[in-house]
Amino acid sequence: MANLTLELKAPLSGPIVALEDVPDPVFSQKMVGDGISIDPVSESLCAPCDGKVVQLHRAHHAVTIEAAHGIEIMMHIGVDTVGLKGEGFRPSVGVGDTVSQGQPLIDFDADRVATNAKSLLTQIIVANGDLVERMDYGTGTATSGENIVLTLHAREATHSESAGAAQGERVVSEPITIANPTGLHARPSALLVAEAKKFAAAVTLHKSSVTANAKSLVAIMGLEVNCGDVITVEAVGPDATAAINALTAAIRGGLGEHCVSVEALEDVDEEQAAQAPRSEDPSILLGVTASPGLAVGHIFQLEREQLSVPEDANDSDAEQQTLKDALAKAHGQLQDLKSSLEDEEKAAIFAAHQELLEDPELLDQATTQIARGKSAAFAWRASYRAQSDALSKLKNELLAGRANDLRDVGRRVLRLILGIDAGEQDMPGESILIAEDLTPSDTAALDRTKVLGFCTVTGGASSHVAILARSLNLPAIAGIEARALKVATGTRVILDAGEAMLRLDPDDTEIERIENARIALERKRADELANANKPAETTDGRRLEVVANIASAKDASLTTEAGGEGVGLCRTEFLFMSRASAPDEEEQFAIYSDMAASLQKDEPLIIRTLDVGGDKPLPYLPIDAEDNPFLGLRGIRVSLQRPAMFRTQLRAILRAAEASRGKGARIMVMFPMVTTIDDVRQAREILEEEREKLGVEAIPVGIMVEVPATAVMAEQFAREVDFFSIGTNDLGQYVLAIDRGHPQLAAQADGLNPSMLTLIAKTVEGARKHDAWVGVCGGLASDAVAVPLLVGIGVDELSVSLPGIPEIKAAVRSVSHAECQALTEQALQLASASEVRQLVKDRYPGLA
Ligand code: PEP
Ligand code: MG
Repeated sequence: MANLTLELKAPLSGPIVALEDVPDPVFSQKMVGDGISIDPVSESLCAPCDGKVVQLHRAHHAVTIEAAHGIEIMMHIGVDTVGLKGEGFRPSVGVGDTVSQGQPLIDFDADRVATNAKSLLTQIIVANGDLVERMDYGTGTATSGENIVLTLHAREATHSESAGAAQGERVVSEPITIANPTGLHARPSALLVAEAKKFAAAVTLHKSSVTANAKSLVAIMGLEVNCGDVITVEAVGPDATAAINALTAAIRGGLGEHCVSVEALEDVDEEQAAQAPRSEDPSILLGVTASPGLAVGHIFQLEREQLSVPEDANDSDAEQQTLKDALAKAHGQLQDLKSSLEDEEKAAIFAAHQELLEDPELLDQATTQIARGKSAAFAWRASYRAQSDALSKLKNELLAGRANDLRDVGRRVLRLILGIDAGEQDMPGESILIAEDLTPSDTAALDRTKVLGFCTVTGGASSHVAILARSLNLPAIAGIEARALKVATGTRVILDAGEAMLRLDPDDTEIERIENARIALERKRADELANANKPAETTDGRRLEVVANIASAKDASLTTEAGGEGVGLCRTEFLFMSRASAPDEEEQFAIYSDMAASLQKDEPLIIRTLDVGGDKPLPYLPIDAEDNPFLGLRGIRVSLQRPAMFRTQLRAILRAAEASRGKGARIMVMFPMVTTIDDVRQAREILEEEREKLGVEAIPVGIMVEVPATAVMAEQFAREVDFFSIGTNDLGQYVLAIDRGHPQLAAQADGLNPSMLTLIAKTVEGARKHDAWVGVCGGLASDAVAVPLLVGIGVDELSVSLPGIPEIKAAVRSVSHAECQALTEQALQLASASEVRQLVKDRYPGLA
């Protein structure tokens, strides 16, 4: 007869505690299952026996091993640790891995977990207790890998209830939105299992196309149900109706947890739909501008190929290998795509796609499903769809945009798994594409000889697709009314992307009017470009410096040709992103020197020190998760906390400045996100220390004015620095309390709001008292309508995106300083940004 005994060795060292004494009823009342707990004195959770990892929670605090006889041993580090979202836990195994007794599974930082969670007690529990007849519990103090803490006596194999197909009534619940803040983790899952087990019916949970047995804790946790996900429950059996009623009520009731408002989660779609622009005129469709421009062409409805996917597979190992191979191939394809794009900002989009290929949650979910017998294609598709669906429900446009990136990467890998080439649809010339959505890959691959523009039903103005469209100079509208999908291919249309409008079946007069407007605009742009190298001097002789915002040495080399008189903002973070470690001093020195050499002798080159943090993390500069990253560790705050990287960058800047003196550009340094005088003093002190060590000359020092406190105290700050550069993108979000990427509110965050103008004026006034000069480098400087007001307020320099330089220089040349001053006085008294815009447009219609 087979040996039915399974001995579990201590996965940790520490005193053994009875499960009844764990301060959480889910464990003490054995809802998750029976077992023991250990109060750990070691920091590495090891396998208590040989087996296979069948579940690793995305928060990395819990892991389940399937051992001999199919017994599932779940280990849960601490109590209430799901809320730590993975902080302090480092798993060294993944789902599907075979492990041997004593092998480390998860390392954890005991101090951190103990201070942030209710308890460090770690539970070792049998999740499918039906397979165990009896267990003997260890006592005393255990040493990891040595003492036996549990002896399990398995039942003789019986007819499992899942052996035959369930018979009887089949009932499916309404879709249920999960409102548990951290989704269905161990505690709510255990309650769900307990509830499901009260019924004879077979009960299954469905999330998208993935399913789990509701009577198995491990299966539910493997389903990775997050807050906001929608699930359905299916019951088959004699008491199916009663089971569905009870389970629906239990899930809606929060399964013992305090839940967020379901209405808030479910309303998001409706809210977004309600806020989306809608036209009353059937021949006009509205959306939001993704990339401005005008085009006259014919509709082409872009249809996405349907990929058919087998659900089950019999060789899990082969399927895991198929997935691995497809991921590696996708990585290679993205590498090629990245190299084909010259612009680093665009290349960064595909670098981010490469990172998604390594996303642990995405991979965990897919490998779990494969381990459960699903095909690689089915498991991968279920995993990326589940995550992209969850992301697209979020209110944050940036995250919703990531959902589209995820679908893009997902389909790339899925095609590779299925061995299908990217299907291209044959389209006629002069096409205006309409699609539910486009991915960055679709956009980069568009045939510019045939496509004049596009409209998508999903997406927003700051999506990666919009960035690509702008770089391709392709008019595009995002978020267009869904009825656009029903317009017949071949319909003649005008795409006025600047006005976010698609006009159907325009008559000839209208087309002529649009064509004329387009030709006039093209002429204006050509004229501005031809005059791009003329100075930006007002009609009454006040000269402004118009310089470029750049992110790479390549941008620097394009500055002079675009009319830039130097660089007002070099965003150095782009040199640090999409790589595994920071560029060293030599590499940075070479890049800054290159930039200085591409500019004209003595032109300014303002190098902003690293501006990363919270919202823009670097993989090699970990920052703890923050509730409000925009109010957290950003810009100079990061540099002052972690000065090593800052010192390296300052040395590279100082050396490049010294080397280029008298030959190339005049290098200056600028600190981002400065809020207090102390920030500047500390940063300057470090700069001075490095300068002395190098024995080089001092360079001009400036700060970004992007925090209201800094604008208000400009006079005090002006004593400390040589110049200011106003970052209107951040200043706007902090003054108006509107996230700069917020999908519904961003339009209200207009930089021409009188409150912004007042702060810009205050900054100039403060600077003048101590001979500091003032530039503007945020988006407002690239807005032609803002030019008369910035001239009127008296800023000295405008730092503009490269393609916008000719237009902004032409705008400065078209106004008189004296008139602008009078106009500004009026603008400062107005009540809203729209009133300010109207005032300027009435006075200078050519700038609109
Ligand atoms: C700004 O905030 O206006 C700015 C120029 O900085 P960034 O856009 O890089 O945050
Ligand atoms: Mg900023």
